[in-house]
Amino acid sequence: MQMNKAVFLDLNGTLVLPLRQESLAEMELIPGIDLAVAKLLTANFICPVVTIQSGIGKGRFTEREFRDWFAAFFGKLKLDVKGPYICPHRFAEDCICKKPKPFLYEQAVKDYAIDLSGSYTIGDTSWDVLAGKNMGGHGCLVRTGCTENEMEYRKAKPHAAYVGQTLDDVVQWILKTEQSGTTV
Ligand SMILES: [Zn+2]
Repeated sequence: MQMNKAVFLDLNGTLVLPLRQESLAEMELIPGIDLAVAKLLTANFICPVVTIQSGIGKGRFTEREFRDWFAAFFGKLKLDVKGPYICPHRFAEDCICKKPKPFLYEQAVKDYAIDLSGSYTIGDTSWDVLAGKNMGGHGCLVRTGCTENEMEYRKAKPHAAYVGQTLDDVVQWILKTEQSGTTV
């Protein structure tokens, strides 16, 4: 069977802001990310979005409302990202799906026949980076969102295959790495 390569994308702090929204209407695209994600899709990467949405667990919005928002938001941008793969639980809950646990990523792997060892994660927290590393792929850190904070940055950096100032930095690094055929 043909295996696909994936770039797993975090949502809040990586594609959109704020980090934790009170309502879905607050969600705004981080400037330039649409063009960066389009480059990945053009290069035939599957791009599943893996996200912690504790607002669902807190009753701020429902999972259905979140999924509808997601489809409309990325549909309007004409970006064929997959998912969303959602952890709906509160941060303090010890659930099976919270990053960096592999549960949500494994669902995408099954849905799209993804080869994890040739795949990447991009996110703004140590959880995103660790998830990619632990699955045998490459965890990439972007310094938007959480890692504008120096403490989170220091926690994530030792595990990162690459650190970019913007999503486009990271995307360019991934495309270059793929072209040169080097493993990191
Ligand atoms: Zn969960």
